[in-house]
Amino acid sequence: MAEFDVDLFVIGGGSGGVRAARIAAGHGARVMIAEEYRMGGTCVIRGCVPKKLFVIGSHIRDEIEDAAGFGWTIPPVSFDWATMVANKDKEIARLEGIYTTNVEKAGAKVAKARAVLEDAHTLRLSTGERVTAKCILVATGSRPYHGREIPGIEHVISSDEAFHLPELPKRVVIQGGGYIALEFACIFAGFGSDVTVVYRGENVLRGFDEDVRAHARAEMEKRGITILTGCTLDKVDRHGKDCTAHLSNGSSLAADKVMFAIGRHPNIANLGLEKLGVAINPKNLGIKVDGWSKTSVDNIYAIGDVTHRVNLTPVAIREGHAFADTVFGKKPVQVDHATIPTAVFAQPEIGTVGLTETEARAQFSHVDIYKADFRPIKSTMSGRDTRILMKLVVDGLTDRVLGCHIVGDSAAEIIQAVAIAVKMKATKADFDATVALHPTAAEELVTMRTPTARHVREAAAE
Ligand SMILES: Cc1cc2nc3c(=O)[nH]c(=O)nc-3n(C[C@H](O)[C@H](O)[C@H](O)COP(=O)(O)OP(=O)(O)OC[C@H]3O[C@@H](n4cnc5c(N)ncnc54)[C@H](O)[C@@H]3O)c2cc1C
Repeated sequence: MAEFDVDLFVIGGGSGGVRAARIAAGHGARVMIAEEYRMGGTCVIRGCVPKKLFVIGSHIRDEIEDAAGFGWTIPPVSFDWATMVANKDKEIARLEGIYTTNVEKAGAKVAKARAVLEDAHTLRLSTGERVTAKCILVATGSRPYHGREIPGIEHVISSDEAFHLPELPKRVVIQGGGYIALEFACIFAGFGSDVTVVYRGENVLRGFDEDVRAHARAEMEKRGITILTGCTLDKVDRHGKDCTAHLSNGSSLAADKVMFAIGRHPNIANLGLEKLGVAINPKNLGIKVDGWSKTSVDNIYAIGDVTHRVNLTPVAIREGHAFADTVFGKKPVQVDHATIPTAVFAQPEIGTVGLTETEARAQFSHVDIYKADFRPIKSTMSGRDTRILMKLVVDGLTDRVLGCHIVGDSAAEIIQAVAIAVKMKATKADFDATVALHPTAAEELVTMRTPTARHVREAAAE
């Protein structure tokens, strides 16, 4: 008789957990995976996928507005939020079913239950069942974090609730300056809401290239989104269906909904980790892991958002796959967390890969900047006041392209392809040797001949 009920027990049926379960089962392991809410996890149920569906829906307004310049007369249109939410829910339920089926087809058993650790080899499920496992993978993800307790915090929603609002709020106040805050600001504004973003820092999109931050903010403001920086939301009052959001600068805003998107915390509470001595990384409050995603306890591993390394779906998937190959497939793989492309599905879209100008100048003595800021061909006829930004950050000594940053339509699609070149350490000369594809916006990336700025660190200049 086997020593344990299963070889692998995965806690969490999200992007990372599902991939790990499928691959480990494919390597012949006996696998069980527990999910307390819905299979698919944050990305599928209340993250990337429903968000992208909302983004696509909110862009249609632009298409309708832009049509007149191309000769179209569009009869008066209307938008029904409830229809869009219902259709989104249908699609998410379909995907949830596919996730469950794929795990089961791979040979893993799905437990629709919450699982907690009793000891290093025993799991207790909310169904009352006890399961022993040789190896345990914690893939419990993260959850919205609202920060300090402010009066009226119970009236504040997070992205989780924003996907299920019964009606489109006419006035929305969103606290936060990161990608989730701005994506929802643009979603609501695209559907016609009056949106105010409140952010405590100097400018939104901390960590992004400074030119991207400035350009994106200006474009969002042109679209009617109010962005208030250098202040916080200190109190929320509710009177019937209406809210008043009180700001640290003394002003107040009337709103139908107040949303916080100021960060996410790893789901580590009440899992039984402390008593087993699973170490937490004090810097980010995620589970501390080594390059193989192993925790401080030998047979317990952790991947995805719960480790708070790079909180993106493709990263969680890669970490889950690498874990399963390493532990059950006799193929040791470590995930390379460098040069990961990322996008903000705001309006306009942002796509970025590699170093920002600031990061490059801190690490390299010679940095060349190539920048183009231009009107997209479509707006010459639509009359829309919008501009695209394209920027390449290049090592002035080796000519290697260190970073690429785009703000404009299809930026995410473009950056996925550019990321291959940047990951391959392509040089600016390689970009220049590539013939342009005309007429596109992306052709600018291979036609920017002269640096717009050249930075040489003083010590290096001597
Ligand atoms: C609004 C929003 C938009 C996003 N957009 C993007 C995007 O465009 N691109 C991108 O790459 N990433 C995006 N992300 C991030 C992405 O969703 C996460 O990085 C990804 O889902 C992490 O995967 P994971 O497997 O680590 O965790 P999750 O997908 O969060 O899965 C963890 C699962 O574990 C379950 N669970 C927790 N505790 C237990 C327990 N004790 N027992 C059983 N089950 C448990 C949870 O219910 C959850 O289903 C977005 C996130 C949000 C919130």
